[in-house]
Amino acid sequence: MRSRAAMIARSTHHEWMFAAGLLVLAAVCAASVLAASFTTHQEVSLQVAPLSGGAVATSEGDGVDIPASHGPPSEARMRFELPRHDPGQRWVVMFSRDIVEEIAVGNARWRSPTRRFFAPEESEGAIPSVFVFPLPEQWQGPVVLDLRVRSGVGSVLRPRVMSETAARRIEQRTIGLAMSIYASLFMLALVMLALFYAAHDRAFLAYFGFALSGLLMIAALNGHLYLLPGFHLLASWREQGIAALTMLFSAAALQILALYGGLRGVSPRAGKAVTAACAALLAIAGLALLGLESLRGASRTLSMVGWLGASFGCIAIGVDAARRRVPMAWPIAFCCTLTGLAAILAELMSRGYIDDLWWTRRGYQVALVASAAMLAIGLAARVGDYRSQRDRAKLAHEDSDRRAAREAARLALAEGLQSQLKSLAIGDLEWTAYRRVLDQLQRILDLDAAAVAVFGADNHSLLVAEPTERKPQFARTVAQRQSVLKGLARTRAPLQVTLDEPGAPATGAAVPAIVPLPLRSPAWGVMILERGRGEGFTTDELTLASEFGRLAVQAIDEAQAAIRLRRSAEMDALTGALNRRTLDQWLARNFGEAHRNNRDLSVLFVDLDNFKSINDTYGHAAGDHCLRRVSGALNGVIGGNDLLGRYGGEEFLIVSMLSTADMARQLGERIRAAVEELPVEWNGHPLKLTASVGVASRWPHESTPNETIERADRALYAAKRGGRNRVSVAPAVFV
Ligand code: GH3
Ligand code: MG
Ligand code: MG
Repeated sequence: MRSRAAMIARSTHHEWMFAAGLLVLAAVCAASVLAASFTTHQEVSLQVAPLSGGAVATSEGDGVDIPASHGPPSEARMRFELPRHDPGQRWVVMFSRDIVEEIAVGNARWRSPTRRFFAPEESEGAIPSVFVFPLPEQWQGPVVLDLRVRSGVGSVLRPRVMSETAARRIEQRTIGLAMSIYASLFMLALVMLALFYAAHDRAFLAYFGFALSGLLMIAALNGHLYLLPGFHLLASWREQGIAALTMLFSAAALQILALYGGLRGVSPRAGKAVTAACAALLAIAGLALLGLESLRGASRTLSMVGWLGASFGCIAIGVDAARRRVPMAWPIAFCCTLTGLAAILAELMSRGYIDDLWWTRRGYQVALVASAAMLAIGLAARVGDYRSQRDRAKLAHEDSDRRAAREAARLALAEGLQSQLKSLAIGDLEWTAYRRVLDQLQRILDLDAAAVAVFGADNHSLLVAEPTERKPQFARTVAQRQSVLKGLARTRAPLQVTLDEPGAPATGAAVPAIVPLPLRSPAWGVMILERGRGEGFTTDELTLASEFGRLAVQAIDEAQAAIRLRRSAEMDALTGALNRRTLDQWLARNFGEAHRNNRDLSVLFVDLDNFKSINDTYGHAAGDHCLRRVSGALNGVIGGNDLLGRYGGEEFLIVSMLSTADMARQLGERIRAAVEELPVEWNGHPLKLTASVGVASRWPHESTPNETIERADRALYAAKRGGRNRVSVAPAVFV
């Protein structure tokens, strides 16, 4: 238990390591952004003037606004002056990589190749990030160059003329920034996928979808996606494919934020609104993918409405979660706001309202990575929660399993003991009960050997061992260490202790568990449990053994009490002989059996002579004393097959099984003599007792005792009349 708690506590460190890793990644990203912003350009100023196709010069004068068109390209004229330069160095015309169908520059003497956003050429490099048109090397002085461009979405182009080295540097830094953004999102997506497999939480899968769709969207917006094999299809959708990806990402962002903030738990209505918004976004994406010509114009507007709405939704969910104190929600909401603002700036920039700077063009991508990183930290921090929750659930489950198994074993033992002990003689109770307990414990606790040692109040002792071969060894240990065991038994608490003699060489045997039995003092007893392989016992196991011991002691007590109660109901309280009711039952049963089996059976009536005078002379107590003494004497005389009962007053009846009339007469004679010779004293006065005996045997046709008893009674009467202290036998029947 303790080690698991420590494990749960330790797990929180992983989240901080993860957070630190993400921060390093963010730092790398920031460094590449900073490096890109501090470039020195060898740049030449130029003027641009529109020529045809609806192109309009921007207010700044160095840009040209190209309208959306699928018809003939727009044209604009650029004028600039190329200074003298070192041999081997070239001038280039460079454009940011905007979403254009085709772009080319040239004049009457020279033409550049045509570049396409959706179909980059291999000559543009592995990761094209700008449109670069190197000018002929020998060019110097004033240059007039025409720009031919066609754009499906419409965009503001800002041609720049600079040295080739400066252009390549800008290109490389742009690539660096894009790569670090892709790497960050890709890594976050992978980590979350792994976490989903580990924790089986849908939030991780939602995050994976969010990061992956973000990655695809940015790669599409940067024009890098179309270089990957298999994405030609997406390229054929043109800007509508980008719109679809943007909608997909917006829906994924709404989903993950709603999951992270637990929105559906606190407000089902807001949850439904999110679901509806996601459905709407996906519908816009589907519409875009339909590629309907009539929708081309509306696509950009619809998509912008979609992502703007989703951004506000995300910020609202983030702020709501932060107010509900969801961990990390404030930084997440902050980053979402930054992303939304940066995306608006990028939109404004692409429409020519603000300058084309790295942070107006790429700022939203950096902010998106920052949001994704914050969200990842928040989600990863939950792994610890999940784990501790799962560990707790597992512990509780194991605990309840164990408790259920123990309860089942306890019930089985209690029931088994009850049914088994019910039919046993009093002398077999303890032995049977303890053997059963040892048997069960051996199975449940996987014991090597076990024993029960009990020392009774009347010096009666009992040793049960399992397996039986170990009994001599246990007997020796118990004999040698009796005082130690007795001391342990008195503590009433189970514990593990070595039973080796002090000073004896260590045997290396496992330390046994001593489990005291809750016996009533002065009796005491213990269970000794041994497990091989040096394994100890857990507190749980010792508790179980204790409980089993208690059940056995209780079952034995109850069974003994039940036997005593049963006996007392059958006994005559004064003399200890069977009472009249029990005697009648036995008589009926024995006569029936004897009749069925054609066996001999005799009854003897014993009546004390002149007993009234003893009562009269010495009192009733003296009479009772005599009755007890006579009952004891009769018990000593009768055989194992005979029953003695008090028939009433000072009359006893003996049922002598298998006795013929003659054998019964001899028994009657022995009884008569025993009473006569019985020494009885009362307050120092010797009392003289005699008895008359009437004997009768069952006649072969008799299946009930009534007639035989009547004959015995008559025989007794005859003995009394004959002068008492004698035996009289009823006449036999001749068949
Ligand atoms: P007999 O030789 O004819 O049998 O003379 P008896 O005095 O024994 O006469 P009977 O058997 O009729 O007397 C029964 C007497 O036994 C009556 C009563 O005082 C005495 N008695 C019966 N039951 C008890 C008993 O439970 N305790 C005592 N102390 N006396 C009893
Ligand atoms: Mg009598
Ligand atoms: Mg009598």
